Amino acid sequence: MKKLNTAGNIVETKTFFSIFSGIIYEVPADYANSVDEGQFPLISKPKSSCKCYGRGYESFDKKQNTYNMCSCMRKCIDPTFVPKEIRVPIEKFV
Ligand SMILES: [Zn+2]
Repeated sequence: MKKLNTAGNIVETKTFFSIFSGIIYEVPADYANSVDEGQFPLISKPKSSCKCYGRGYESFDKKQNTYNMCSCMRKCIDPTFVPKEIRVPIEKFV
């Protein structure tokens, strides 16, 4: 996707979904390789007509502190993406 930055220049951006915050956001393509774990690059956005209303997630997993992605995201996530290992905060008092 192309966007105008504050200086009025066209910047190539990539779309990501964060399973920690449940948001879909744009990152300048130059920074796309340095995103954190739990960030999934998208080739398309979930449709607002989906049961997730285009949010890309269905629910929040309180145990893992992550958002459970909607099944429609399987088609949205970049198929070339290899996820990094996701470290889940370990609860101290079980
Ligand atoms: Zn969906």
